[in-house]
Amino acid sequence: MVHDLPGVGEHLHDHVDVVQVVDAPDLTDLFGLSMAGMVRTVKGIFEWRKHRRGMLTTNFAEAGGFVRSRPEEPVPDLQFHFVIGKLVDHGRKTVFGHGYSCHVCLLRPQSRGRVQLASADPMQPPQVDPNFLAERDDMDRMVRGFKLMRRLLGQPALAGYGGRELPASAIAQTDEEIEQFIRNHGDTIYHPVGSCRMGNGPMDVVDAQLRVHGTEGLRVVDASVMPRIVGGNTNAPTIMIAEKAADMIRAAAH
Ligand SMILES: Cc1cc2nc3c(=O)[nH]c(=O)nc-3n(C[C@H](O)[C@H](O)[C@H](O)COP(=O)(O)OP(=O)(O)OC[C@H]3O[C@@H](n4cnc5c(N)ncnc54)[C@H](O)[C@@H]3O)c2cc1C
Repeated sequence: MVHDLPGVGEHLHDHVDVVQVVDAPDLTDLFGLSMAGMVRTVKGIFEWRKHRRGMLTTNFAEAGGFVRSRPEEPVPDLQFHFVIGKLVDHGRKTVFGHGYSCHVCLLRPQSRGRVQLASADPMQPPQVDPNFLAERDDMDRMVRGFKLMRRLLGQPALAGYGGRELPASAIAQTDEEIEQFIRNHGDTIYHPVGSCRMGNGPMDVVDAQLRVHGTEGLRVVDASVMPRIVGGNTNAPTIMIAEKAADMIRAAAH
């Protein structure tokens, strides 16, 4: 060991997320596994190759929104991602037919997890424990978010398409049932941060110049330096961190 820095790997957090999936067999314009869907996708491939247009130009998460889980919240604490397909288990599970999905994720979670070494062998994968929903407040916000999402999906503009929520979530009606559904199905929306937190406390890892405390010539430049997760997607803020770091490294070299 060169330097014992106990904060490394601590304070991991992420936007915990849960998905409601709606079956809408008549919406064959959307992505889905069916004969009509396959024909449209093959057509889409040719359209894309020839004209750079058509259904393959989608980013799949075609709509989103930031909302407050209660009117008294000062800023939005939840984010929706609306996806034009039936997304089960991050798309790893094959689902037949057409439909759409909506995610709700918690923007400012209080729960903190950790990344730890699993063994002294550096080739072994680390242990990652997101410790989602450890704080009661995180769960309460997610339950409110789940109900808001269901209300949104039930509005006339979408209800007209005759969609039906898949039974896995549809059976969750009371707050207790919704909480259980979230505990069973809540997962990452791929925004982990915080495990090399910037700050000047004993559990912080890098300083404001992203230099690792107690070492020379070592910086961490990635999403892990965020002391608290941003209230939105993490890619652009990470690029901003990297650009700022590049400026600081260049300035230090002169
Ligand atoms: C499936 C998915 C979808 C996402 N969608 C969005 C989105 O729509 N919008 C958004 O804002 N954010 C999104 N994100 C989050 C965003 O991608 C991340 O917040 C961002 O990429 C974090 O940047 P990073 O530099 O910290 O890590 P990364 O982008 O993961 O970069 C880490 C790099 O280190 C390299 N690396 C790893 N180990 C080694 C090693 N041993 N030696 C050398 N190199 C190594 C990896 O190859 C990689 O290039 C998504 C993430 C995922 C996984």
